[in-house]
Amino acid sequence: MIDTQLSRMYESLGISKDVQMFGAETESALKPRFEEIDRRAEYNQMKVIKAMQDCRVSDIHFAATTGYGYNDLGRDTLENVYAACFHGESALVRPQLMSGTHALHVALSGNLRPGDELLSPVGKPYDTLEEVIGIRESAGSLKEYGVSYRQADLLPDGTFDYENIRKAINEKTKLVTIQRSKGYATRPTFSVEQIGQLIAFVKSVKPDVICMVDNCYGEFVEITEPTDVGADMIVGSLIKNPGGGLAPIGGYIVGRKDCVDRAAYRLSAPGLGKEVGASLGLNQSLFQGLFLAPTVVAGALKGAIFAANIYEKLGFSVHPNGTEERHDIIQAITFGTAEGVIAFCQGIQAAAPVDSYVKPEPWDMPGYDAPVIMAAGAFVQGSSIELSADAPIKPPYAVYFQGGLTWYHARLGILKSLQSLVERGIVRLPE
Ligand SMILES: *Cc1c(COP(=O)(O)O)cnc(C)c1O
Repeated sequence: MIDTQLSRMYESLGISKDVQMFGAETESALKPRFEEIDRRAEYNQMKVIKAMQDCRVSDIHFAATTGYGYNDLGRDTLENVYAACFHGESALVRPQLMSGTHALHVALSGNLRPGDELLSPVGKPYDTLEEVIGIRESAGSLKEYGVSYRQADLLPDGTFDYENIRKAINEKTKLVTIQRSKGYATRPTFSVEQIGQLIAFVKSVKPDVICMVDNCYGEFVEITEPTDVGADMIVGSLIKNPGGGLAPIGGYIVGRKDCVDRAAYRLSAPGLGKEVGASLGLNQSLFQGLFLAPTVVAGALKGAIFAANIYEKLGFSVHPNGTEERHDIIQAITFGTAEGVIAFCQGIQAAAPVDSYVKPEPWDMPGYDAPVIMAAGAFVQGSSIELSADAPIKPPYAVYFQGGLTWYHARLGILKSLQSLVERGIVRLPE
C-alpha cells in the first residue's frame, strides 16, 4: 500500500517507474553501508548531546544580545559546547566569521607573524586560500605582511611526501596547514587517522610548529576529528556540516587556547578578543544546527554514496568510487560532455524545495576560466550542506555535488538528475 502510494508520489514529482526501479535496486545493495553510516551518526549525536549536557545548555542561552555583546552567555556557552564536542581547549564560533575562508584567514593571520613561514604539506590549498596566502597576488595577503609560504606536493598516488615535507620544514616554519577534504581537486580526501600520522611526523621534525586543519566538509563524517589526533586548531564553516543546515552564517575555530585566543584578537581587536561580538539572536540556530548536524551529515553521505553507485553502474567515472570509504561529503561524477553536466545540474535544481522551477544555465563567473553551472535551491544562500551541484563547463566535464539536509531529499535529487539524463537520451537504463 505504502509502496504504491510512494511510487505515485515519485511519479507526481516526475520520476518514471524505470528510474524508480533502478534507484531502488541500487539502494538495496547499499543497506550494510547505510547502517554503518547510521551507527556513526548515532555516536556523533551522543557526542553532541553529551557536550550540550556537560555545558548545561539552557533556554537562557538562546537570548539575543546586541551592541558590544559583553557577557553574551549564549555565545560563550556555544563556544564551550564546540570545544567539548571537538575536544579542544577553546573555541571561537561566531556569526562574525563570515565564511570558511574568513575563518581560515583569521586563524592563519592571528597565529602568523612577519618572518614566519606557512607550510602546506598536502599540495595546493583550496582556491580561495591562494589569495589569503598570496600564492596569487592579492592586497592584504599574508605575503604582504611578510609571511612566506612553502608547499610540499603529494606523491603521485596521493600520499604524503615525507621526505620533501622534512626538507620543507625549517627554522622559520611556524604553522602547517592541512586540508582534510579534497575540495574540488582530484586528490583523495584524508582520513582523520592519516591526518594524525602527518601531524605526528611534522611534530617529530619540529615539535613547536602549530598544526591547523581546514576541516571543511569533514565534520561528523567519522567519529573522531583532527583535534583528537593532535591538531592544534580545526577550522570550518557553519553553512557546511556543523551548522546542520540551520546556521544562517558563521565559522568556527576550535583547538589550543593560545591559538584560539590569538585568532580572536585578530577577529576583533588586540585586547578585546573573545569578549566582544553580539550574537544577534542567532544562538538558537547555531545550537540547534549543531544538534542536527550528525544526522544531516549522514543523509548527505548516503546521497553521495547512492549517486556514486548509480552513475558507476551506468559507466561513468565517479570519485570517490561506489565502494570507497568516505572522509568528506563531496562526490564528483565525470560525464564527459557539457550536455551531461548540464542535464545533471538541472535535475538537482528541479528536486529542490526552493526555486525548483528555475533552470540553471552555465555563465561566465568572475574568477573562473570557463563558464560555470551551479544548481542550488537552498534555504540559506550558498549553503553547501544543502543539496547543491556545480561544474565548470570544460573537460573532463565533471560535476561536483554535495549535501542534502535529509537523505530522502538527496535521493530525490539524484533520481531527478538521472531522469533528466534519461529524458535527453544521454543515459540509457539497462534493460
Ligand atoms: C568550502 C571550503 C573552504 C572555504 O569555505 P567558504 O565558506 O566557501 O569560504 C575552504 N576549504 C575547503 C576544503 C572547503 O571545502
